[in-house]
Amino acid sequence: MGLGDGAVALPMIATASVETPLVSVLGGGQLGRMLALAGRPLGIDFRFLDPSPDATAGKVGPLVVGALDDLDRVDEVTQGATVVTYEWEGVPADAARHAMQHAPVRPDPRALDVSQDRLTEKQTFERLGIEVPAFAPADTFEELTAAAATIGFPAIVKTRRGGYDGKGQARLAQADDLERAWSELGGVPLILERQVPFTRELSVLAVRGLDGETRCYPLVENEHGEGILRVSRAPAPGLTPDLESAGESVATRILDDLDYVGVLAVELFEYEERLLANEMAPRVHNSGHWTIEGAGSSQFENHVRAVLGIELGSTDVRGFAGMVNCIGTMPDPAALSQVEGAVLHDYEKEPRAGRKLGHITVVANTEADRDQKVEALRALA
Ligand code: AMP
Repeated sequence: MGLGDGAVALPMIATASVETPLVSVLGGGQLGRMLALAGRPLGIDFRFLDPSPDATAGKVGPLVVGALDDLDRVDEVTQGATVVTYEWEGVPADAARHAMQHAPVRPDPRALDVSQDRLTEKQTFERLGIEVPAFAPADTFEELTAAAATIGFPAIVKTRRGGYDGKGQARLAQADDLERAWSELGGVPLILERQVPFTRELSVLAVRGLDGETRCYPLVENEHGEGILRVSRAPAPGLTPDLESAGESVATRILDDLDYVGVLAVELFEYEERLLANEMAPRVHNSGHWTIEGAGSSQFENHVRAVLGIELGSTDVRGFAGMVNCIGTMPDPAALSQVEGAVLHDYEKEPRAGRKLGHITVVANTEADRDQKVEALRALA
């Protein structure tokens, strides 16, 4: 690939006059940290903006402390950047647009507009021919009642904005539950969705380069507990070519529609051998952490490559990968040696109940070995 408009040359392949590329990242959590850990070996510098002075990305690169909608701090972190990206879908879209004064922002902030509103998101999927659970907007109790009458039960009501990891949601088994759901969540715009009796939850991660080249990682199977991702397996067990291409088609439609540059994750429900899209994350994603050890190039490296206009790396899986999240507490690193090949990633965050503190990856030669190791790690994590 030639280096097109907006692409940068890596120092190692460029003339001495080329400056070190600088990626400014809005958000300074573990995702930003892992972007830097992947990009530094390529000779790329990073700078982060985060409201917390303890943000974990600040341990691996310069950190500007400030609110993500504080435009002076946005100026400070993005001045002199080669490119600006974000590692959290809650980054105010207007702040990301403001940063365009200083450098290209990739993915385009339009991706934030779509993913920050569950209604716009579902409508976008539907417009692109991507199957979704039946849904309807509801801003008043009357609209909620009418939506439930059309959609049926069981159903889930969600706030359109601001919900994550199962927060801002209520389940409705029957019409009697409507008043309780309204008193818990009402007063802000809502969306009602049919509850899909899915077989399992999957995700597709794909990367699109500046020149439009797109590569997909194999579909991932995800297990959640208390609304938080616990375990990912890639490739998803029992993955068929039909399912694989259905997942790729979902990702490609969204990437092309948004003229997207970078890594995108789409969370999916598998139901009767079909894929229904739940939501998208316009960033690197927890269900792709296995790619650090388990793929030709990790999601983090590929995101950095994409936003800088560097040729993408391989998304091929090396054998069978598993990832177990460390939630609330970290395991004893010595105990992990019981599981051959286990790799611990410590985000160096203060332990707190329900907080993602790290993850463990394992890559095996067979699916059975991977699954056995994942179970052993789950018991230790
Ligand atoms: P979300 O915040 O939309 O990712 O939802 C959190 C979790 O709730 C998902 O991972 C699913 O397990 C479940 N969920 C959300 N929406 C639906 C739905 N329409 N049908 C069934 N389960 C759902």
